[in-house]
Parts: sequence; C-alpha cells; structure tokens
Amino acid sequence: MDTFRRNACPSLAAPMRTGDGWLARLPPLVAPMTPAMLAELSAAADRHGNGLLEISKRGNLQLRGLAEDGAGGLAADLEEAGFDLAEGIPISLDPLATLAGIDAAPIVHDLHRRIQDAGVETRLAPKFTILLDFGSPLAPQGLSADLRLAFRGDRVAIGLGGDDARAANWIGWVARTAAIDAALAILGTLAAHGPGARLRGPGGLAGNPAIASTVAGLFDGAVPPANGAAGTTIGPIAGYDVSVQGIAFAFGQSHADALRKLAATASREGLAAFAPAPERVLLLAGEPDAVAATVSVAARLGFITEPNDTRRFIAACIGSEGCASGRMAARHMAEAAAGAIASLLDGSLTLHLSGCAKGCAHPEPAKITLVGVDNGAGLVLDGRARDAPVGIAPASVLLGGLGRLAAMAATRAPGTTARAAVDSMERAGILGAVTGETAGDDDDRGESRNDPRDARLSA
Ligand code: SF4
Repeated sequence: MDTFRRNACPSLAAPMRTGDGWLARLPPLVAPMTPAMLAELSAAADRHGNGLLEISKRGNLQLRGLAEDGAGGLAADLEEAGFDLAEGIPISLDPLATLAGIDAAPIVHDLHRRIQDAGVETRLAPKFTILLDFGSPLAPQGLSADLRLAFRGDRVAIGLGGDDARAANWIGWVARTAAIDAALAILGTLAAHGPGARLRGPGGLAGNPAIASTVAGLFDGAVPPANGAAGTTIGPIAGYDVSVQGIAFAFGQSHADALRKLAATASREGLAAFAPAPERVLLLAGEPDAVAATVSVAARLGFITEPNDTRRFIAACIGSEGCASGRMAARHMAEAAAGAIASLLDGSLTLHLSGCAKGCAHPEPAKITLVGVDNGAGLVLDGRARDAPVGIAPASVLLGGLGRLAAMAATRAPGTTARAAVDSMERAGILGAVTGETAGDDDDRGESRNDPRDARLSA
C-alpha cells in the first residue's frame, strides 16, 4: 500500500494509514450517483471498512477503517456498482455537470490518458490538482488548483494556480480542440522544473512567463467570470433543470447505515441523483417532490438540512470511540457542544474537537480547538490540533468551560459575531473561561506558560 508518492493525498491506489485503519479517498466523481449506487457505496463501506464515510472539504468521498489490503476489493465493488474511478491526478469538476447537459467524462478520460501516456504524473508534485469549469452553477471555482480549464463555447480559458478562480493567473484562451494539448504542454514544462514544482501556493510558478510561452495557439480575451465561491450550500441551489438541494453529514461523517436508509428513501421517491460537493456537502437532485421527501427523511436520520445548524460549525473526528489514536471522545463531545454552546456557533468561527493531535477532521487552523492528549485535553487558540495548547485539563472541564465562553459571547452587542466577541477578549480571559480558573489559581501557571505542552490548569 505504501507504493504511492510521499505526501500524496490518500487514494484508492494508495490509502493512508490512520488511527482507525486505512483511509481511501475516491477520485472526484465524473458523474453523480444514483440511489442504487449510494446504497452499494454504503454496503462497500461496511464490507471493506468500519462503515464510516466522509466527504472531504474539496468534495471527495472517503471511506475509513479499511484493512491494509482492503482498497483493491473496494475499488472492484465500486466499479461493478457503476462508479467511474479514474485514478491519476485529481480532476475536480461540477459533480452535477451531466444534469446541466455537459458531457464531462470524455474530457476527463482523455486528459487522464494523455497525462499517463506522457509519463508526466510522477514528475509533478504529489498534490498537483486540475480543475475543470464548464460554467455550470456548481463549477468549483472556489477551490484551489494548479491548472484551471474554463470551457466556454468553442474556447477554453487557461488559468494557472490560485486559491480560487479570481486569484488565478489567466494567461489566455485556446480553441476547445487544443485544450488538452495546452494542458499537456504546461504540465511537461512544469515537470521540467523538478518534482516539487507547483503552479499554486507559496513558490508556485503561476506567474512564470516560460509556462505560458509553451502553449501553442494562445490568444487574449477577458477572464471568464467567477463567482468566487465553492458554490455549494445547505438548502436549494438554483440553475439546473431539476431541483437541487444540499445537505451535509453531521460533523462531516456519516455511518453507512444512515446512508443506506437515505438511499432507500431516495429510490422509493424517485430521486435522480446524489453527488458529493465541496464544503462536505451531499447534493440531492431530481423532481422537486422527490428532493423534498428525501430531504425530510435526511433530517430525521440526523443529516444537516438547515444552513444555520450549529453542527455545521463544529469539526470533530470519531475520537476515542472509534479510533485507536483517540485520547478524547471528540464526536460525543461535539454532539453535546452543538446544543450547549449555540451562541458561539453562529458560523463566524470553527470549533474543532480532535481525538488526537493529528487533526483529521480539520487540518486547517480553527479559532478554538480541544485536542485529546495523554493527560486530558488541550486548548488551542487560533491554531491546528498539532499546535501547542495554551492549557490542558480534563476534557469534561474544557467542554463545560466552552459553555462559560458561550455565555460570555452571548452578551455581545447585536450584529456582532461570535468570532468578533472572542477576538475582543484577552487570551487570559478565554483561558480562564474555558478552564474555569483565573490567573493565580495555580502556582504552576507561570511554569505552564513557559512550556504549554506541560500545562495542567485543572486536573
Ligand atoms: S484525529 Fe481523530 S480520527 Fe484522526 S487519528 Fe486522531 S483520533 Fe483518529
């Protein structure tokens, strides 16, 4: 299983070892899933893994708890169920493009085949990504990418790098028939800069004129309009011939059993399609009555169906209740926190509850993180789970302390966000609220500040 390149994202070809077994991420879906395919996916998650399924922040499905040699059987089962599992450089696109009358599959397959024939993939950075934008409502323009191809009529605009479409370097247009040649020319030139070369991110070569100069037939034109958003939200999404609505997994994760029940309802109601999308959204598409009936059952099954659901603003892994690395029951705490600290969860900040310092559920920094450590739980402010905590206490104490912080945040002026309220507090005040202690309560406090990893404010 360790056959893939170092630092590459987990995939079916090269799953990643985690605390609860191996994690395999499916490639971006080229076409949506039918209810029958969702049912097969759920069955496969049980058969090959521990039954837990997730949608990543970029909108890709992943299954947890696989055996070390489990991904091969998983891939075979999914292919038999009708999944189009093109391995290779991830190519992100609107998962509902086919519902907008766009046949993206031939382009994706052609691109993969040409990249493979050129032998260029292994000479590119492990996390290199390509994004296709067909101008459909859910074109993932808000995602970061190394190479962007924006299809508009018989022309294709080429964008290099960028954390979203607006930040990319749009170098010009080519005829649609020349788009894949242009992409290959860019990839080949980039590969010549070494295996770590990227077009996006710090040190990215998006602005290097040598990259653009390799594209034959490039002509100028206005940059294609970008909405600048990932485009996926909870609730109705306009712009398709059918009704489309986004829901989400509570805390980014679902158990196969709930998905199987959702798939059964969808099948009974005649829903046309499901698709994972950025921001961990699951899209439902079909006739309005079928979508409404399925969403109604989704709410009863515990899926998030309302945009202001407080669970949406908590990132939590399964923690010690399902992962060998877990030092804290993160998911259990998240369920308790979602109801208890609603005034803090207004969407302006993320609360991250992580079973251990790996931070699987939210690799990015969060405003407030509680992370399981050997002697309790750590409080991290404006950081990642792996960062040094400013205090350590029993998890139950910190969870109760979040209630105190929420009560303080609730007294903020109307129109002020929870984030602004927390930001206006002194760090010592936050620490005191969450740990229930004030400066001077503990003679070890000064020592703890010098070495936050050893801090134990209340034990
Ligand atoms: S962050 Fe959570 S899921 Fe990831 S290894 Fe730690 S406990 Fe397990």
